[in-house]
Amino acid sequence: MTFENLEIIEPILKALKEEGYTHPTPVQEQSIPIILKRNDIIGCAQTGTGKTAAFAIPILQILKAESNTVRNARSIRNLILTPTRELAIQIGESFSAYGKYTGLKHTVIFGGVTQYSQTEALKAGVDILIATPGRLLDLISQKFIHLHNLKIFVLDEADRMLDMGFIHDVKKVIAQIPKKRQTLLFSATMPPEIVKLADTILIDPIMIAVTPVSSTVDVIDQAIYFVDKKDKNALLSHILKDKSVLSALVFTRTKHGADKVVRYLEKEHISAEAIHGNKSQNARQRALTNFKAKKTRVLVATDIAARGIDIDELSHVINYEIPNIPETYVHRIGRTGRAGLSGIALSFCDEEEKEFLRDIQRLISMKIPIMDEHPFPLIAGQHELVIEKRSSARNRNNNQGSLRRDKPYRKNYTTYK
Ligand code: AMP
Repeated sequence: MTFENLEIIEPILKALKEEGYTHPTPVQEQSIPIILKRNDIIGCAQTGTGKTAAFAIPILQILKAESNTVRNARSIRNLILTPTRELAIQIGESFSAYGKYTGLKHTVIFGGVTQYSQTEALKAGVDILIATPGRLLDLISQKFIHLHNLKIFVLDEADRMLDMGFIHDVKKVIAQIPKKRQTLLFSATMPPEIVKLADTILIDPIMIAVTPVSSTVDVIDQAIYFVDKKDKNALLSHILKDKSVLSALVFTRTKHGADKVVRYLEKEHISAEAIHGNKSQNARQRALTNFKAKKTRVLVATDIAARGIDIDELSHVINYEIPNIPETYVHRIGRTGRAGLSGIALSFCDEEEKEFLRDIQRLISMKIPIMDEHPFPLIAGQHELVIEKRSSARNRNNNQGSLRRDKPYRKNYTTYK
Protein backbone atom coordinates (compact mmCIF):
# COMPACT_ATOMS: atom_id res chain seq x y z
CA MET A 1 0.00 0.00 0.00
CA THR A 2 1.30 3.45 -0.92
CA PHE A 3 -0.09 6.96 -0.44
CA GLU A 4 -0.74 7.02 -4.22
CA ASN A 5 -3.00 3.97 -3.77
CA LEU A 6 -4.98 5.98 -1.23
CA GLU A 7 -5.56 8.60 -3.95
CA ILE A 8 -3.83 11.38 -2.13
CA ILE A 9 -3.52 14.53 -4.23
CA GLU A 10 -0.20 15.67 -5.64
CA PRO A 11 0.52 18.69 -3.37
CA ILE A 12 0.19 16.46 -0.30
CA LEU A 13 2.10 13.55 -1.87
CA LYS A 14 4.97 15.89 -2.59
CA ALA A 15 5.09 17.05 1.04
CA LEU A 16 4.91 13.47 2.34
CA LYS A 17 7.83 12.51 0.12
CA GLU A 18 9.82 15.37 1.58
CA GLU A 19 9.00 14.10 5.07
CA GLY A 20 10.41 10.73 4.01
CA TYR A 21 7.10 8.87 4.37
CA THR A 22 7.02 6.08 1.84
CA HIS A 23 4.13 3.96 3.13
CA PRO A 24 1.08 4.75 5.21
CA THR A 25 1.04 3.29 8.72
CA PRO A 26 -1.86 0.90 9.57
CA VAL A 27 -3.96 3.63 11.18
CA GLN A 28 -3.45 5.81 8.11
CA GLU A 29 -4.29 3.01 5.73
CA GLN A 30 -7.54 2.43 7.59
CA SER A 31 -8.63 5.98 8.37
CA ILE A 32 -7.75 7.93 5.26
CA PRO A 33 -10.27 6.31 2.86
CA ILE A 34 -13.03 6.46 5.49
CA ILE A 35 -12.45 10.14 6.23
CA LEU A 36 -12.22 10.99 2.53
CA LYS A 37 -15.64 9.35 2.09
CA ARG A 38 -16.86 11.82 4.72
CA ASN A 39 -17.79 9.21 7.32
CA ASP A 40 -17.56 9.81 11.05
CA ILE A 41 -14.86 7.78 12.72
CA ILE A 42 -13.80 6.49 16.12
CA GLY A 43 -10.09 5.77 16.12
CA CYS A 44 -8.60 3.78 18.97
CA ALA A 45 -4.98 4.66 18.45
CA GLN A 46 -2.11 5.97 20.51
CA THR A 47 0.38 8.60 19.56
CA GLY A 48 3.27 6.93 17.84
CA THR A 49 1.03 5.07 15.42
CA GLY A 50 0.92 7.94 12.92
CA LYS A 51 -2.54 9.00 14.01
CA THR A 52 -1.97 12.73 13.44
CA ALA A 53 -1.26 12.21 9.77
CA ALA A 54 -4.18 9.76 9.66
CA PHE A 55 -6.56 12.67 10.14
CA ALA A 56 -4.43 15.60 8.92
CA ILE A 57 -3.85 14.21 5.41
CA PRO A 58 -7.54 13.58 4.49
CA ILE A 59 -8.63 16.84 6.14
CA LEU A 60 -6.16 18.80 4.05
CA GLN A 61 -7.35 16.97 0.96
CA ILE A 62 -11.05 17.63 1.66
CA LEU A 63 -10.52 21.31 2.45
CA LYS A 64 -8.26 21.80 -0.56
CA ALA A 65 -10.90 20.33 -2.89
CA GLU A 66 -13.52 22.60 -1.37
CA SER A 67 -11.30 25.69 -1.69
CA ASN A 68 -10.83 24.88 -5.37
CA THR A 69 -14.57 24.97 -6.01
CA VAL A 70 -15.91 27.55 -3.57
CA ARG A 71 -14.04 30.82 -3.39
CA ASN A 72 -15.19 32.42 -0.19
CA ALA A 73 -13.18 34.39 2.30
CA ARG A 74 -11.18 32.13 4.58
CA SER A 75 -13.10 30.78 7.55
CA ILE A 76 -12.53 28.03 10.08
CA ARG A 77 -13.68 24.82 8.42
CA ASN A 78 -11.83 22.37 10.61
CA LEU A 79 -11.42 22.46 14.38
CA ILE A 80 -9.08 20.08 16.17
CA LEU A 81 -9.53 19.99 19.90
CA THR A 82 -6.63 18.50 21.83
CA PRO A 83 -5.90 18.41 25.57
CA THR A 84 -2.43 19.91 25.91
CA ARG A 85 -0.34 22.67 24.52
CA GLU A 86 2.42 20.20 23.57
CA LEU A 87 0.02 18.13 21.50
CA ALA A 88 -1.50 21.22 19.91
CA ILE A 89 1.95 22.41 18.84
CA GLN A 90 2.85 18.99 17.46
CA ILE A 91 -0.37 18.79 15.47
CA GLY A 92 0.34 22.30 14.14
CA GLU A 93 3.78 21.14 13.03
CA SER A 94 2.23 18.20 11.21
CA PHE A 95 -0.18 20.48 9.34
CA SER A 96 2.73 22.76 8.41
CA ALA A 97 4.63 19.78 7.03
CA TYR A 98 1.88 17.94 5.14
CA GLY A 99 -0.03 21.04 4.06
CA LYS A 100 2.79 23.21 2.84
CA TYR A 101 1.81 22.98 -0.84
CA THR A 102 -1.94 23.20 -0.32
CA GLY A 103 -2.28 26.94 0.30
CA LEU A 104 -4.42 26.18 3.36
CA LYS A 105 -3.77 28.07 6.55
CA HIS A 106 -3.86 26.85 10.11
CA THR A 107 -3.11 28.24 13.51
CA VAL A 108 -2.63 26.86 16.99
CA ILE A 109 -4.13 28.37 20.14
CA PHE A 110 -3.61 27.35 23.78
CA GLY A 111 -3.68 28.91 27.21
CA GLY A 112 -0.88 29.99 29.53
CA VAL A 113 0.47 32.62 27.12
CA THR A 114 -0.82 36.02 26.03
CA GLN A 115 -3.48 35.86 23.37
CA TYR A 116 -2.24 38.68 21.13
CA SER A 117 -0.34 36.69 18.49
CA GLN A 118 -3.15 34.12 18.46
CA THR A 119 -5.88 36.70 17.85
CA GLU A 120 -3.76 38.37 15.15
CA ALA A 121 -3.43 35.03 13.34
CA LEU A 122 -7.18 34.47 13.66
CA LYS A 123 -7.94 37.92 12.27
CA ALA A 124 -5.79 37.16 9.22
CA GLY A 125 -8.07 34.16 8.52
CA VAL A 126 -7.45 30.43 8.93
CA ASP A 127 -8.97 27.26 7.48
CA ILE A 128 -7.83 24.95 10.26
CA LEU A 129 -7.81 25.72 13.96
CA ILE A 130 -5.94 23.55 16.47
CA ALA A 131 -6.93 24.41 20.02
CA THR A 132 -6.98 23.43 23.66
CA PRO A 133 -10.48 23.76 25.15
CA GLY A 134 -10.04 26.59 27.70
CA ARG A 135 -8.44 29.14 25.38
CA LEU A 136 -10.83 28.20 22.61
CA LEU A 137 -13.89 28.96 24.76
CA ASP A 138 -12.27 32.16 25.93
CA LEU A 139 -11.62 33.41 22.39
CA ILE A 140 -15.08 32.33 21.24
CA SER A 141 -16.63 34.40 24.02
CA GLN A 142 -14.47 37.36 22.98
CA LYS A 143 -15.79 36.88 19.42
CA PHE A 144 -12.38 36.27 17.88
CA ILE A 145 -13.55 32.83 16.75
CA HIS A 146 -16.61 31.94 14.69
CA LEU A 147 -17.36 28.33 14.01
CA HIS A 148 -20.53 28.55 11.89
CA ASN A 149 -18.68 27.35 8.77
CA LEU A 150 -17.17 24.35 10.48
CA LYS A 151 -17.23 21.20 8.34
CA ILE A 152 -14.94 18.79 10.21
CA PHE A 153 -14.50 18.47 13.95
CA VAL A 154 -11.69 16.39 15.45
CA LEU A 155 -11.68 15.42 19.10
CA ASP A 156 -8.17 14.18 19.80
CA GLU A 157 -7.14 12.14 22.86
CA ALA A 158 -10.69 12.13 24.19
CA ASP A 159 -9.87 9.92 27.18
CA ARG A 160 -7.11 12.25 28.21
CA MET A 161 -9.51 15.20 28.07
CA LEU A 162 -11.53 13.25 30.59
CA ASP A 163 -8.46 12.51 32.77
CA MET A 164 -7.52 16.16 32.80
CA GLY A 165 -10.99 17.34 33.73
CA PHE A 166 -11.70 19.05 30.38
CA ILE A 167 -14.76 17.08 29.42
CA HIS A 168 -17.14 19.86 30.46
CA ASP A 169 -15.33 22.37 28.31
CA VAL A 170 -15.38 19.90 25.43
CA LYS A 171 -19.15 19.61 25.74
CA LYS A 172 -19.47 23.40 25.76
CA VAL A 173 -17.47 23.61 22.54
CA ILE A 174 -19.59 20.91 20.91
CA ALA A 175 -22.72 22.87 21.79
CA GLN A 176 -21.37 25.77 19.72
CA ILE A 177 -20.50 24.01 16.48
CA PRO A 178 -22.85 23.21 13.58
CA LYS A 179 -24.76 19.93 13.95
CA LYS A 180 -24.19 19.10 10.31
CA ARG A 181 -20.51 18.22 10.23
CA GLN A 182 -18.09 15.33 10.03
CA THR A 183 -16.72 14.22 13.40
CA LEU A 184 -13.53 12.27 14.06
CA LEU A 185 -12.91 11.05 17.58
CA PHE A 186 -9.57 9.61 18.66
CA SER A 187 -9.02 7.98 22.01
CA ALA A 188 -6.52 5.42 23.28
CA THR A 189 -9.03 3.89 25.67
CA MET A 190 -12.81 3.92 25.76
CA PRO A 191 -13.99 4.64 29.31
CA PRO A 192 -17.81 4.69 29.69
CA GLU A 193 -18.00 8.45 29.68
CA ILE A 194 -16.25 8.64 26.31
CA VAL A 195 -18.56 5.95 24.93
CA LYS A 196 -21.51 8.08 26.06
CA LEU A 197 -20.03 11.18 24.49
CA ALA A 198 -19.31 9.31 21.25
CA ASP A 199 -22.95 8.21 21.13
CA THR A 200 -24.12 11.79 21.23
CA ILE A 201 -21.65 13.48 18.90
CA LEU A 202 -21.03 10.96 16.12
CA ILE A 203 -23.36 9.72 13.42
CA ASP A 204 -22.95 6.10 12.25
CA PRO A 205 -19.26 6.13 13.03
CA ILE A 206 -16.85 3.56 11.68
CA MET A 207 -14.59 2.18 14.32
CA ILE A 208 -10.94 1.55 13.65
CA ALA A 209 -8.46 0.21 16.14
CA VAL A 210 -4.76 -0.32 15.89
CA THR A 211 -2.86 -2.27 18.48
CA PRO A 212 0.56 -0.82 19.02
CA VAL A 213 1.80 -4.00 20.63
CA SER A 214 3.75 -6.33 18.39
CA SER A 215 4.57 -3.85 15.63
CA THR A 216 6.50 -1.51 17.89
CA VAL A 217 8.05 -4.12 20.12
CA ASP A 218 9.73 -5.96 17.28
CA VAL A 219 12.16 -3.24 16.24
CA ILE A 220 13.28 -2.34 19.74
CA ASP A 221 16.22 -3.92 21.55
CA GLN A 222 15.02 -4.63 25.04
CA ALA A 223 16.88 -5.65 28.19
CA ILE A 224 16.08 -6.17 31.85
CA TYR A 225 18.40 -5.21 34.68
CA PHE A 226 17.53 -6.92 37.95
CA VAL A 227 18.53 -4.43 40.58
CA ASP A 228 17.71 -3.53 44.15
CA LYS A 229 15.49 -0.48 44.56
CA LYS A 230 18.21 1.39 46.46
CA ASP A 231 20.73 0.82 43.64
CA LYS A 232 18.59 2.14 40.80
CA ASN A 233 20.08 5.64 40.83
CA ALA A 234 23.61 4.29 40.74
CA LEU A 235 22.70 1.90 37.92
CA LEU A 236 21.16 4.76 35.96
CA SER A 237 24.24 6.92 36.18
CA HIS A 238 26.38 3.88 35.34
CA ILE A 239 24.37 3.36 32.14
CA LEU A 240 24.47 7.05 31.30
CA LYS A 241 28.28 7.05 31.51
CA ASP A 242 28.15 5.28 28.18
CA LYS A 243 28.31 8.02 25.57
CA SER A 244 26.38 5.92 23.07
CA VAL A 245 23.29 6.75 25.11
CA LEU A 246 22.68 9.92 23.16
CA SER A 247 19.29 10.75 24.63
CA ALA A 248 17.23 8.93 27.21
CA LEU A 249 13.63 9.21 28.24
CA VAL A 250 13.42 7.83 31.77
CA PHE A 251 10.05 6.79 33.16
CA THR A 252 9.19 6.92 36.84
CA ARG A 253 5.89 6.03 38.44
CA THR A 254 5.43 9.25 40.38
CA LYS A 255 6.08 12.96 39.96
CA HIS A 256 8.03 12.99 43.18
CA GLY A 257 10.12 10.07 41.90
CA ALA A 258 10.86 11.98 38.68
CA ASP A 259 12.13 14.99 40.63
CA LYS A 260 14.30 12.79 42.83
CA VAL A 261 15.95 11.15 39.83
CA VAL A 262 16.64 14.54 38.26
CA ARG A 263 18.22 15.83 41.47
CA TYR A 264 20.44 12.75 41.62
CA LEU A 265 21.54 13.04 38.00
CA GLU A 266 22.31 16.73 38.42
CA LYS A 267 24.60 15.86 41.32
CA GLU A 268 26.31 13.40 38.99
CA HIS A 269 26.71 16.19 36.40
CA ILE A 270 24.35 14.59 33.92
CA SER A 271 21.99 17.09 32.29
CA ALA A 272 18.43 16.12 33.12
CA GLU A 273 15.00 17.70 33.39
CA ALA A 274 11.68 16.40 34.64
CA ILE A 275 8.34 16.66 32.90
CA HIS A 276 5.17 15.97 34.86
CA GLY A 277 1.82 17.37 35.84
CA ASN A 278 3.09 19.52 38.72
CA LYS A 279 5.21 21.59 36.35
CA SER A 280 3.77 24.63 34.62
CA GLN A 281 2.97 24.44 30.90
CA ASN A 282 5.96 26.69 30.24
CA ALA A 283 8.34 24.56 32.26
CA ARG A 284 7.13 21.40 30.52
CA GLN A 285 7.44 22.93 27.08
CA ARG A 286 10.91 24.25 27.90
CA ALA A 287 12.06 20.83 29.13
CA LEU A 288 10.72 19.20 26.00
CA THR A 289 12.30 21.77 23.68
CA ASN A 290 15.68 21.40 25.42
CA PHE A 291 15.47 17.64 25.13
CA LYS A 292 14.49 17.71 21.46
CA ALA A 293 17.31 20.17 20.74
CA LYS A 294 19.69 17.79 22.58
CA LYS A 295 20.56 20.47 25.14
CA THR A 296 19.36 18.08 27.85
CA ARG A 297 20.41 14.49 27.57
CA VAL A 298 17.89 12.96 29.93
CA LEU A 299 14.19 13.68 30.25
CA VAL A 300 12.51 12.09 33.27
CA ALA A 301 8.78 11.71 32.87
CA THR A 302 5.68 10.17 34.35
CA ASP A 303 3.35 8.28 32.04
CA ILE A 304 0.60 10.87 31.96
CA ALA A 305 3.03 13.71 31.19
CA ALA A 306 4.81 11.76 28.48
CA ARG A 307 1.72 10.53 26.72
CA GLY A 308 1.42 12.14 23.37
CA ILE A 309 4.91 13.51 23.31
CA ASP A 310 6.58 12.91 20.03
CA ILE A 311 10.36 12.85 20.00
CA ASP A 312 12.15 11.91 16.83
CA GLU A 313 15.47 10.12 17.14
CA LEU A 314 15.20 9.06 20.74
CA SER A 315 17.93 6.48 21.32
CA HIS A 316 16.94 5.04 24.71
CA VAL A 317 13.89 4.55 26.86
CA ILE A 318 14.69 3.58 30.44
CA ASN A 319 12.03 2.19 32.72
CA TYR A 320 13.32 3.26 36.11
CA GLU A 321 10.28 1.51 37.46
CA ILE A 322 8.37 -1.28 35.79
CA PRO A 323 4.79 -0.22 35.05
CA ASN A 324 2.04 -2.28 36.67
CA ILE A 325 -0.10 -2.07 33.52
CA PRO A 326 1.59 -4.15 30.80
CA GLU A 327 0.28 -1.97 27.95
CA THR A 328 2.02 1.00 29.52
CA TYR A 329 5.33 -0.79 28.96
CA VAL A 330 4.56 -1.05 25.26
CA HIS A 331 3.58 2.60 25.04
CA ARG A 332 6.70 3.67 26.88
CA ILE A 333 9.15 1.71 24.78
CA GLY A 334 7.31 2.76 21.63
CA ARG A 335 8.77 6.24 22.18
CA THR A 336 11.96 4.90 20.71
CA GLY A 337 12.08 2.87 17.50
CA ARG A 338 9.80 5.42 15.82
CA ALA A 339 9.02 5.30 12.16
CA GLY A 340 11.25 2.34 11.44
CA LEU A 341 14.29 3.48 13.44
CA SER A 342 15.71 0.97 15.88
CA GLY A 343 15.77 1.86 19.54
CA ILE A 344 16.84 0.53 22.91
CA ALA A 345 14.61 0.01 25.93
CA LEU A 346 16.16 -0.86 29.29
CA SER A 347 14.09 -1.75 32.33
CA PHE A 348 15.15 -1.78 35.98
CA CYS A 349 13.33 -4.48 37.87
CA ASP A 350 13.49 -4.92 41.64
CA GLU A 351 12.18 -7.85 43.63
CA GLU A 352 8.68 -6.43 44.01
CA GLU A 353 8.34 -5.62 40.32
CA LYS A 354 8.96 -9.12 39.04
CA GLU A 355 5.25 -9.86 38.86
CA PHE A 356 4.72 -6.83 36.60
CA LEU A 357 7.48 -8.10 34.38
CA ARG A 358 5.77 -11.48 34.07
CA ASP A 359 2.60 -9.76 32.89
CA ILE A 360 4.51 -7.69 30.35
CA GLN A 361 6.21 -10.77 28.94
CA ARG A 362 2.85 -12.46 28.63
CA LEU A 363 1.42 -9.48 26.77
CA ILE A 364 4.26 -9.16 24.30
CA SER A 365 4.68 -12.94 24.05
CA MET A 366 8.41 -12.82 24.48
CA LYS A 367 11.06 -13.09 27.14
CA ILE A 368 13.01 -9.91 27.49
CA PRO A 369 16.76 -10.64 27.57
CA ILE A 370 18.39 -10.24 30.98
CA MET A 371 21.48 -8.07 31.32
CA ASP A 372 23.36 -9.63 34.20
CA GLU A 373 26.73 -8.05 33.72
CA HIS A 374 26.33 -4.86 35.65
CA PRO A 375 27.75 -3.58 38.95
CA PHE A 376 24.51 -3.73 40.97
CA PRO A 377 23.02 -7.19 40.47
CA LEU A 378 20.03 -8.26 42.49
CA ILE A 379 21.20 -11.50 43.96
CA ALA A 380 18.15 -13.13 45.53
CA GLY A 381 15.81 -14.99 43.22
CA GLN A 382 17.14 -13.52 40.01
CA HIS A 383 16.44 -16.52 37.87
CA GLU A 384 13.02 -17.49 39.11
CA LEU A 385 11.27 -15.59 36.44
CA VAL A 386 8.99 -18.19 35.03
CA ILE A 387 5.59 -17.63 33.56
CA GLU A 388 3.25 -18.74 36.28
CA LYS A 389 -0.30 -19.92 35.93
CA ARG A 390 -2.02 -17.88 38.54
CA SER A 391 -4.29 -14.89 38.73
CA SER A 392 -2.30 -12.21 37.01
CA ALA A 393 -0.75 -9.30 38.84
CA ARG A 394 -2.43 -7.14 36.31
CA ASN A 395 -5.88 -8.07 37.51
CA ARG A 396 -4.94 -7.21 41.02
CA ASN A 397 -3.22 -3.98 40.21
CA ASN A 398 -4.96 -2.57 37.25
CA ASN A 399 -7.17 0.15 38.54
CA GLN A 400 -6.41 2.54 35.72
CA GLY A 401 -8.37 0.79 33.00
CA SER A 402 -6.63 -0.83 30.09
CA LEU A 403 -6.35 -0.48 26.38
CA ARG A 404 -9.07 -1.95 24.30
CA ARG A 405 -7.79 -4.19 21.62
CA ASP A 406 -9.32 -4.73 18.24
CA LYS A 407 -12.94 -5.23 19.27
CA PRO A 408 -15.64 -2.67 18.67
CA TYR A 409 -17.04 -1.51 21.96
CA ARG A 410 -20.58 -1.45 20.70
CA LYS A 411 -21.80 -4.06 18.36
CA ASN A 412 -23.95 -1.82 16.17
CA TYR A 413 -20.99 0.28 15.04
CA THR A 414 -19.45 -0.69 11.75
CA THR A 415 -15.96 -1.94 12.32
CA TYR A 416 -13.21 -1.55 9.80
CA LYS A 417 -12.05 -4.92 8.48
P1 AMP B 1 1.87 10.31 15.66
O1 AMP B 1 1.28 9.00 16.05
O2 AMP B 1 0.96 11.13 14.88
O3 AMP B 1 2.42 11.02 16.88
O4 AMP B 1 3.14 10.02 14.71
C1 AMP B 1 4.28 9.36 15.17
C2 AMP B 1 5.52 9.63 14.34
O5 AMP B 1 5.50 8.90 13.12
C3 AMP B 1 5.72 11.09 13.97
O6 AMP B 1 7.07 11.41 14.22
C4 AMP B 1 5.44 11.14 12.48
O7 AMP B 1 6.25 12.13 11.87
C5 AMP B 1 5.84 9.74 12.02
N1 AMP B 1 5.02 9.25 10.89
C6 AMP B 1 3.68 9.38 10.73
N2 AMP B 1 3.27 8.77 9.59
C7 AMP B 1 4.36 8.22 9.03
C8 AMP B 1 4.59 7.45 7.84
N3 AMP B 1 3.60 7.10 7.02
N4 AMP B 1 5.86 7.06 7.57
C9 AMP B 1 6.87 7.39 8.42
N5 AMP B 1 6.74 8.11 9.55
C10 AMP B 1 5.50 8.52 9.86
